Amino acid sequence: MKIKKIAVIGTGNMGAPMATNLAKAGFDVSVFDIVERKMLAIAEYGVTVCENHQQAISNADIVWTMLPTGIEVGDVFNNQLFKYCNKSCLLVDSSTIDLNDAREIHKVAARNGFNMLDAPVSGGTVGAHNGALSFMVGGDTKSLTIAQPAFEAMGKTMVHCGEGGMGQAAKMCNNLMLGIQMISVAEGFRLAQEVGLNEQTLFNVATASSGDCFALRTFCPIPDLVKTAPSTNGFKPGFSSQLMLKDLSLALNAANAAGIDLPFGANAAEQYGALVESGDAGMDFSSVIKLITKGH
Ligand code: NAD
Repeated sequence: MKIKKIAVIGTGNMGAPMATNLAKAGFDVSVFDIVERKMLAIAEYGVTVCENHQQAISNADIVWTMLPTGIEVGDVFNNQLFKYCNKSCLLVDSSTIDLNDAREIHKVAARNGFNMLDAPVSGGTVGAHNGALSFMVGGDTKSLTIAQPAFEAMGKTMVHCGEGGMGQAAKMCNNLMLGIQMISVAEGFRLAQEVGLNEQTLFNVATASSGDCFALRTFCPIPDLVKTAPSTNGFKPGFSSQLMLKDLSLALNAANAAGIDLPFGANAAEQYGALVESGDAGMDFSSVIKLITKGH
């Protein structure tokens, strides 16, 4: 099946550049967002701005949702897509949502005769703008092959993680690791400062040693060591503390449902929670270093 028309529902920070990249790649793209100005901001890039969900999804080969949480995704799938899409339309959700919500939506999609993929992303707004997202995909291989040209228009990698819901599973496990990793890097630098070890020296040593990781090399929480890190730009995101807290909560919910404890994940969620409470919700999550102060 050759894809011609793609409807993007939700043109916020991520959905807008994703829709734009699809249009640039030559797809016929129609968009709908409940906030009109978010659609108008990308009208000049050749997308068709619609008045409601039904107009956007009419005759679409793929409907791609990029919404805040499982609540909005459930609402749009149950009250719009399952009711008004053609049965041949492939439904792809790239929002980050709860694993159980994703599994439930897959089940209802199958019951209603729709093919569906969960395809959450990594790479943030910069990746979305540059067409360099990483997609983690759950669902059947036939649907994945159909969506492949669209993945290529918006991303640089796409990993098939398994059956429906496994994309969300991969995303939450990855971000659980990242959230804890950032705190470990921040603690390393705070200790270095206290014992008189130069920050640049620690950076040079750790990036060439076993402490090397994404949080250090790409999102280093100490300003000016990495030119493109949010810390060098006043902790402007990047990836906000609020979104990190959301993703850790999804991981902790899944751990709870599975009956396992994740003590370091739980502690990390407390730290990002405190950061959000302190008014830094919109700051990059690497600003968690501010919380690591003198204990005594
Ligand atoms: P956002 O809040 O900027 O965009 C969501 C959009 O959905 C908004 O424009 C909102 O008006 C629209 N919307 C809400 N309900 C709607 C409905 N019923 N119908 C149509 N539109 C509706 O959020 P975002 O930053 O674009 O993130 C989207 C998803 O991607 C989230 O699940 C987030 O966790 C995930 N994500 C975000 C980032 C990031 O860096 N921003 C990175 C990876 C994953």
